Amino acid sequence: MSKRDYYEILGVAKNATSAEIKKAYRKLATAYHPDRNPDDPESEEKFKEAAEAYAVLSDNEKRQMYDTYGHDAPGGGSPFGGFSSMDDIFSSLGDIFGDFFNFGGGGRQRRRRGENIGISQQLSFRESLFGCTKSVSVEKFDICESCKGSGAKTPDAFSECKTCQGQGQVVHRQGFFAFATTCPDCSGQGRIIREKCPDCKGSGKIKRKENIKVKIPAGVMSGQRIKLTGKGQSAPDAIPGDLYIELLVKEDELFERHGYDLVAPLPVSFPQAALGVKIPFKIPLSIEDDEEIEINIAKGTQPNEIITIPGKGVTILSENTKGDLHLQVILVIPESLSKEEEDLIRKLADVSKSPVASKKNIFKKIFGND
Ligand SMILES: [Zn+2]
Ligand SMILES: [Zn+2]
Repeated sequence: MSKRDYYEILGVAKNATSAEIKKAYRKLATAYHPDRNPDDPESEEKFKEAAEAYAVLSDNEKRQMYDTYGHDAPGGGSPFGGFSSMDDIFSSLGDIFGDFFNFGGGGRQRRRRGENIGISQQLSFRESLFGCTKSVSVEKFDICESCKGSGAKTPDAFSECKTCQGQGQVVHRQGFFAFATTCPDCSGQGRIIREKCPDCKGSGKIKRKENIKVKIPAGVMSGQRIKLTGKGQSAPDAIPGDLYIELLVKEDELFERHGYDLVAPLPVSFPQAALGVKIPFKIPLSIEDDEEIEINIAKGTQPNEIITIPGKGVTILSENTKGDLHLQVILVIPESLSKEEEDLIRKLADVSKSPVASKKNIFKKIFGND
Protein backbone atom coordinates (compact mmCIF):
# COMPACT_ATOMS: atom_id res chain seq x y z
CA MET A 1 0.00 0.00 0.00
CA SER A 2 1.52 3.33 -0.94
CA LYS A 3 1.30 5.95 1.76
CA ARG A 4 0.34 9.53 1.05
CA ASP A 5 2.97 12.22 1.45
CA TYR A 6 2.77 13.84 4.90
CA TYR A 7 2.96 17.37 3.48
CA GLU A 8 0.16 16.52 1.08
CA ILE A 9 -1.98 15.13 3.92
CA LEU A 10 -1.68 18.36 5.88
CA GLY A 11 -1.90 20.47 2.71
CA VAL A 12 1.26 22.43 3.43
CA ALA A 13 4.39 23.24 1.41
CA LYS A 14 7.64 21.28 1.92
CA ASN A 15 9.20 24.34 3.52
CA ALA A 16 6.21 25.07 5.77
CA THR A 17 7.05 26.58 9.17
CA SER A 18 6.13 24.71 12.32
CA ALA A 19 3.39 27.29 12.94
CA GLU A 20 1.87 26.56 9.51
CA ILE A 21 2.05 22.82 10.16
CA LYS A 22 0.37 23.16 13.54
CA LYS A 23 -2.35 25.37 12.08
CA ALA A 24 -3.05 22.97 9.21
CA TYR A 25 -3.18 20.03 11.58
CA ARG A 26 -5.46 21.83 14.04
CA LYS A 27 -7.92 22.45 11.21
CA LEU A 28 -7.96 18.79 10.08
CA ALA A 29 -7.99 17.36 13.58
CA THR A 30 -10.93 19.56 14.55
CA ALA A 31 -12.87 18.56 11.44
CA TYR A 32 -12.25 14.81 11.84
CA HIS A 33 -12.07 14.54 15.63
CA PRO A 34 -13.86 11.35 16.79
CA ASP A 35 -15.83 13.24 19.41
CA ARG A 36 -17.44 15.19 16.59
CA ASN A 37 -17.77 12.27 14.18
CA PRO A 38 -18.87 9.30 16.28
CA ASP A 39 -18.89 5.93 14.47
CA ASP A 40 -17.59 7.35 11.22
CA PRO A 41 -14.74 5.10 10.01
CA GLU A 42 -13.80 7.47 7.18
CA SER A 43 -13.30 10.42 9.54
CA GLU A 44 -11.39 8.19 11.90
CA GLU A 45 -9.05 7.17 9.08
CA LYS A 46 -8.50 10.82 8.10
CA PHE A 47 -7.96 11.74 11.73
CA LYS A 48 -5.33 9.02 12.14
CA GLU A 49 -3.60 9.98 8.90
CA ALA A 50 -3.40 13.64 9.94
CA ALA A 51 -2.16 12.70 13.42
CA GLU A 52 0.63 10.58 11.97
CA ALA A 53 1.67 13.31 9.53
CA TYR A 54 1.67 15.85 12.34
CA ALA A 55 3.62 13.59 14.71
CA VAL A 56 6.39 13.40 12.14
CA LEU A 57 6.42 16.93 10.71
CA SER A 58 6.14 18.65 14.11
CA ASP A 59 9.23 16.86 15.38
CA ASN A 60 12.37 18.42 13.84
CA GLU A 61 14.35 15.23 14.01
CA LYS A 62 11.60 13.05 12.52
CA ARG A 63 10.88 15.65 9.87
CA GLN A 64 14.52 15.71 8.81
CA MET A 65 14.52 11.90 8.60
CA TYR A 66 11.31 11.98 6.58
CA ASP A 67 12.70 14.63 4.22
CA THR A 68 15.74 12.44 3.69
CA TYR A 69 14.23 8.97 3.49
CA GLY A 70 10.56 9.49 2.83
CA HIS A 71 8.43 6.71 4.28
CA ASP A 72 11.37 4.28 4.18
CA ALA A 73 13.07 5.72 7.26
CA PRO A 74 15.75 3.60 8.91
CA GLY A 75 14.83 1.24 11.67
CA GLY A 76 12.60 -1.10 9.69
CA GLY A 77 9.04 -1.95 10.60
CA SER A 78 6.74 1.03 10.89
CA PRO A 79 9.35 3.75 10.70
CA PHE A 80 7.43 6.64 12.16
CA GLY A 81 5.35 4.49 14.47
CA GLY A 82 2.21 4.66 12.37
CA PHE A 83 -0.64 4.76 14.84
CA SER A 84 -2.49 1.49 15.08
CA SER A 85 -5.31 2.66 17.29
CA MET A 86 -6.98 5.78 18.56
CA ASP A 87 -5.55 5.02 22.01
CA ASP A 88 -2.10 5.19 20.50
CA ILE A 89 -2.79 8.62 19.07
CA PHE A 90 -4.09 9.95 22.33
CA SER A 91 -1.19 8.51 24.26
CA SER A 92 1.47 10.09 22.06
CA LEU A 93 -0.26 13.28 21.10
CA GLY A 94 -2.17 13.74 24.32
CA ASP A 95 -0.50 17.03 25.15
CA ILE A 96 -1.31 18.51 21.79
CA PHE A 97 -4.93 17.56 22.10
CA GLY A 98 -4.91 19.07 25.57
CA ASP A 99 -3.95 22.35 23.92
CA PHE A 100 -6.33 22.05 21.04
CA PHE A 101 -9.57 20.72 22.31
CA ASN A 102 -11.81 21.45 25.14
CA PHE A 103 -14.70 19.17 24.41
CA GLY A 104 -15.35 18.57 28.09
CA GLY A 105 -16.01 15.20 29.64
CA GLY A 106 -13.02 14.10 31.70
CA GLY A 107 -10.61 13.52 28.83
CA ARG A 108 -8.94 10.32 27.87
CA GLN A 109 -6.45 8.53 30.00
CA ARG A 110 -2.89 8.40 28.76
CA ARG A 111 -1.47 4.95 28.47
CA ARG A 112 1.65 4.21 30.44
CA ARG A 113 4.88 3.71 28.56
CA GLY A 114 8.10 1.91 29.44
CA GLU A 115 11.25 4.00 29.47
CA ASN A 116 13.13 4.79 26.27
CA ILE A 117 16.69 3.54 25.95
CA GLY A 118 19.43 5.54 24.23
CA ILE A 119 22.68 3.99 23.02
CA SER A 120 25.34 4.91 20.51
CA GLN A 121 26.85 2.79 17.77
CA GLN A 122 30.12 3.36 15.93
CA LEU A 123 30.21 2.87 12.18
CA SER A 124 33.13 2.83 9.81
CA PHE A 125 33.01 5.38 7.01
CA ARG A 126 32.16 2.67 4.51
CA GLU A 127 29.42 1.19 6.70
CA SER A 128 27.80 4.62 6.69
CA LEU A 129 28.06 4.84 2.91
CA PHE A 130 26.67 1.43 2.06
CA GLY A 131 24.59 0.46 5.08
CA CYS A 132 25.08 -2.62 7.23
CA THR A 133 23.50 -4.75 9.91
CA LYS A 134 24.74 -4.26 13.46
CA SER A 135 24.03 -6.29 16.54
CA VAL A 136 23.64 -3.98 19.51
CA SER A 137 23.58 -5.11 23.11
CA VAL A 138 20.94 -3.45 25.25
CA GLU A 139 20.53 -3.75 29.02
CA LYS A 140 16.93 -4.42 29.88
CA PHE A 141 14.98 -5.09 33.03
CA ASP A 142 12.37 -7.80 33.21
CA ILE A 143 9.75 -8.06 35.89
CA CYS A 144 11.01 -10.56 38.51
CA GLU A 145 9.05 -13.77 38.07
CA SER A 146 9.42 -14.85 41.71
CA CYS A 147 7.79 -11.78 43.25
CA LYS A 148 5.85 -10.57 40.20
CA GLY A 149 7.67 -7.25 40.51
CA SER A 150 6.70 -6.52 44.12
CA GLY A 151 10.24 -7.03 45.42
CA ALA A 152 8.94 -8.90 48.48
CA LYS A 153 9.70 -12.53 49.36
CA THR A 154 6.02 -13.35 49.95
CA PRO A 155 2.88 -11.33 49.16
CA ASP A 156 2.47 -10.49 52.86
CA ALA A 157 6.10 -9.57 53.53
CA PHE A 158 5.23 -5.85 53.72
CA SER A 159 4.85 -3.44 56.60
CA GLU A 160 3.09 -0.12 56.57
CA CYS A 161 5.49 2.77 55.94
CA LYS A 162 5.99 4.60 59.25
CA THR A 163 7.01 7.87 57.61
CA CYS A 164 3.70 8.41 55.85
CA GLN A 165 1.54 6.01 57.86
CA GLY A 166 0.68 4.18 54.67
CA GLN A 167 -0.52 7.30 52.86
CA GLY A 168 2.29 7.39 50.29
CA GLN A 169 2.49 11.15 50.71
CA VAL A 170 3.97 13.45 53.28
CA VAL A 171 2.56 16.91 53.98
CA HIS A 172 4.80 19.92 54.55
CA ARG A 173 3.33 23.05 56.08
CA GLN A 174 4.56 26.52 55.31
CA GLY A 175 2.53 29.23 56.98
CA PHE A 176 -1.03 28.83 55.77
CA PHE A 177 -0.06 26.48 52.96
CA ALA A 178 0.31 22.75 52.94
CA PHE A 179 2.19 20.85 50.26
CA ALA A 180 1.89 17.14 49.73
CA THR A 181 4.91 15.37 48.26
CA THR A 182 5.61 11.73 47.51
CA CYS A 183 6.92 9.91 50.58
CA PRO A 184 10.71 9.56 50.21
CA ASP A 185 10.90 6.33 52.23
CA CYS A 186 8.35 4.22 50.33
CA SER A 187 8.35 6.16 47.01
CA GLY A 188 4.60 6.63 47.38
CA GLN A 189 3.82 2.93 47.87
CA GLY A 190 2.61 3.41 51.45
CA ARG A 191 4.36 0.22 52.49
CA ILE A 192 7.89 -1.05 52.77
CA ILE A 193 9.24 -4.53 52.13
CA ARG A 194 9.90 -6.44 55.34
CA GLU A 195 11.57 -9.39 53.65
CA LYS A 196 13.12 -8.85 50.24
CA CYS A 197 12.71 -11.26 47.32
CA PRO A 198 16.02 -13.19 47.12
CA ASP A 199 15.98 -13.30 43.31
CA CYS A 200 15.79 -9.56 42.62
CA LYS A 201 17.05 -8.30 46.01
CA GLY A 202 13.90 -6.24 46.46
CA SER A 203 14.06 -4.29 43.20
CA GLY A 204 11.30 -6.30 41.52
CA LYS A 205 13.38 -6.32 38.36
CA ILE A 206 15.92 -8.67 36.81
CA LYS A 207 18.63 -7.25 34.59
CA ARG A 208 19.37 -8.99 31.33
CA LYS A 209 21.19 -8.26 28.10
CA GLU A 210 19.32 -8.34 24.85
CA ASN A 211 21.05 -8.41 21.49
CA ILE A 212 19.11 -6.59 18.84
CA LYS A 213 19.91 -6.63 15.14
CA VAL A 214 19.65 -3.20 13.56
CA LYS A 215 19.62 -2.58 9.88
CA ILE A 216 21.53 0.63 9.14
CA PRO A 217 20.51 2.03 5.76
CA ALA A 218 23.01 3.38 3.24
CA GLY A 219 23.92 7.05 3.47
CA VAL A 220 23.45 7.69 7.20
CA MET A 221 25.30 10.59 8.76
CA SER A 222 27.17 10.89 12.04
CA GLY A 223 24.88 12.10 14.82
CA GLN A 224 21.77 10.72 13.17
CA ARG A 225 19.47 8.70 15.43
CA ILE A 226 17.62 5.54 14.51
CA LYS A 227 14.46 4.78 16.45
CA LEU A 228 13.31 1.21 17.06
CA THR A 229 9.74 1.46 18.22
CA GLY A 230 8.91 -0.74 21.19
CA LYS A 231 12.49 -1.93 21.75
CA GLY A 232 12.95 0.11 24.94
CA GLN A 233 12.17 -0.95 28.51
CA SER A 234 8.96 -2.74 29.24
CA ALA A 235 6.96 -2.08 32.38
CA PRO A 236 3.87 -3.70 33.92
CA ASP A 237 0.62 -2.68 32.19
CA ALA A 238 2.45 -0.43 29.79
CA ILE A 239 3.47 -0.36 26.16
CA PRO A 240 7.26 -0.77 25.88
CA GLY A 241 9.42 2.31 25.38
CA ASP A 242 11.54 2.92 22.29
CA LEU A 243 15.20 2.33 21.56
CA TYR A 244 17.21 5.21 20.11
CA ILE A 245 20.56 4.47 18.49
CA GLU A 246 22.83 7.40 17.82
CA LEU A 247 25.24 6.71 14.96
CA LEU A 248 28.84 7.84 15.24
CA VAL A 249 30.67 7.59 11.93
CA LYS A 250 34.47 7.40 11.89
CA GLU A 251 36.25 9.80 9.56
CA ASP A 252 37.94 8.57 6.42
CA GLU A 253 41.58 9.40 5.65
CA LEU A 254 40.89 10.43 2.09
CA PHE A 255 37.22 11.18 1.59
CA GLU A 256 35.34 13.93 3.33
CA ARG A 257 31.58 14.10 3.37
CA HIS A 258 29.60 17.24 2.57
CA GLY A 259 25.92 16.39 2.77
CA TYR A 260 25.55 13.64 0.18
CA ASP A 261 28.63 14.69 -1.80
CA LEU A 262 32.11 13.28 -1.32
CA VAL A 263 35.21 15.43 -1.56
CA ALA A 264 38.77 14.15 -2.03
CA PRO A 265 42.14 15.57 -3.09
CA LEU A 266 43.53 14.58 -6.50
CA PRO A 267 47.33 14.87 -6.77
CA VAL A 268 48.40 15.94 -10.25
CA SER A 269 51.92 16.68 -11.55
CA PHE A 270 52.79 19.83 -13.47
CA PRO A 271 53.20 18.03 -16.82
CA GLN A 272 49.84 16.24 -16.32
CA ALA A 273 48.03 19.51 -15.51
CA ALA A 274 49.72 21.35 -18.37
CA LEU A 275 49.28 18.69 -21.06
CA GLY A 276 46.14 16.87 -19.88
CA VAL A 277 45.79 13.16 -19.11
CA LYS A 278 43.31 10.48 -18.09
CA ILE A 279 44.24 9.09 -14.67
CA PRO A 280 42.66 6.22 -12.71
CA PHE A 281 41.15 6.99 -9.30
CA LYS A 282 39.78 4.52 -6.75
CA ILE A 283 36.44 5.17 -5.05
CA PRO A 284 34.55 2.94 -2.56
CA LEU A 285 32.21 0.50 -4.33
CA SER A 286 31.06 -1.53 -1.33
CA ILE A 287 32.22 -2.17 2.25
CA GLU A 288 35.10 -4.34 0.94
CA ASP A 289 35.69 -3.28 -2.63
CA ASP A 290 36.84 -0.28 -4.61
CA GLU A 291 35.85 0.81 -8.06
CA GLU A 292 38.41 2.37 -10.40
CA ILE A 293 37.12 5.31 -12.36
CA GLU A 294 38.92 7.37 -14.97
CA ILE A 295 39.38 11.06 -14.29
CA ASN A 296 39.88 13.34 -17.25
CA ILE A 297 42.44 16.03 -16.49
CA ALA A 298 41.99 18.63 -19.18
CA LYS A 299 44.92 20.41 -20.78
CA GLY A 300 45.72 23.50 -18.72
CA THR A 301 44.02 22.37 -15.49
CA GLN A 302 44.71 24.82 -12.66
CA PRO A 303 45.74 24.04 -9.05
CA ASN A 304 42.74 23.66 -6.69
CA GLU A 305 40.37 23.29 -9.62
CA ILE A 306 37.38 21.10 -8.74
CA ILE A 307 36.55 18.19 -11.02
CA THR A 308 33.02 16.93 -10.38
CA ILE A 309 31.92 13.40 -11.20
CA PRO A 310 28.13 13.25 -10.93
CA GLY A 311 26.45 10.33 -9.16
CA LYS A 312 29.58 8.98 -7.44
CA GLY A 313 28.74 10.39 -4.01
CA VAL A 314 26.61 9.05 -1.17
CA THR A 315 23.30 7.20 -1.56
CA ILE A 316 20.20 9.35 -1.05
CA LEU A 317 17.59 6.69 -0.24
CA SER A 318 14.49 8.89 -0.53
CA GLU A 319 15.42 9.97 -4.03
CA ASN A 320 16.91 6.65 -5.13
CA THR A 321 19.98 8.48 -6.33
CA LYS A 322 23.48 9.48 -5.22
CA GLY A 323 25.31 12.71 -4.54
CA ASP A 324 28.40 13.78 -6.51
CA LEU A 325 32.13 13.27 -6.13
CA HIS A 326 34.26 16.42 -6.14
CA LEU A 327 37.99 16.04 -6.69
CA GLN A 328 40.20 18.97 -5.90
CA VAL A 329 43.35 19.19 -8.02
CA ILE A 330 46.46 19.33 -5.85
CA LEU A 331 49.49 20.36 -7.88
CA VAL A 332 52.38 18.23 -6.72
CA ILE A 333 55.79 19.93 -6.82
CA PRO A 334 58.65 17.44 -6.44
CA GLU A 335 60.80 18.05 -3.36
CA SER A 336 63.93 16.75 -5.07
CA LEU A 337 64.84 16.31 -8.71
CA SER A 338 67.11 14.01 -10.65
CA LYS A 339 69.81 15.72 -12.67
CA GLU A 340 67.89 15.03 -15.89
CA GLU A 341 64.66 16.48 -14.46
CA GLU A 342 66.45 19.57 -13.25
CA ASP A 343 68.10 20.14 -16.61
CA LEU A 344 64.76 19.84 -18.40
CA ILE A 345 62.98 22.20 -16.01
CA ARG A 346 65.77 24.74 -16.35
CA LYS A 347 65.43 24.45 -20.09
CA LEU A 348 61.66 24.99 -19.79
CA ALA A 349 62.25 28.05 -17.58
CA ASP A 350 64.64 29.38 -20.17
CA VAL A 351 62.26 28.82 -23.10
CA SER A 352 59.23 30.25 -21.24
CA LYS A 353 61.34 33.23 -20.10
CA SER A 354 60.56 32.53 -16.49
CA PRO A 355 63.56 33.49 -14.36
CA VAL A 356 64.68 30.91 -11.81
CA ALA A 357 67.33 30.87 -9.11
CA SER A 358 70.68 29.70 -10.42
CA LYS A 359 72.40 26.95 -8.47
CA LYS A 360 74.91 29.50 -7.27
CA ASN A 361 72.20 31.88 -6.03
CA ILE A 362 70.55 29.15 -4.01
CA PHE A 363 73.89 28.43 -2.41
CA LYS A 364 74.32 32.09 -1.55
CA LYS A 365 70.84 32.36 -0.10
CA ILE A 366 71.41 29.50 2.28
CA PHE A 367 74.84 30.47 3.51
CA GLY A 368 74.51 34.24 3.14
CA ASN A 369 78.12 34.79 1.87
CA ASP A 370 77.43 37.46 -0.80
ZN1 LIG B 1 5.90 6.18 53.10
ZN1 LIG C 1 11.79 -10.57 42.94
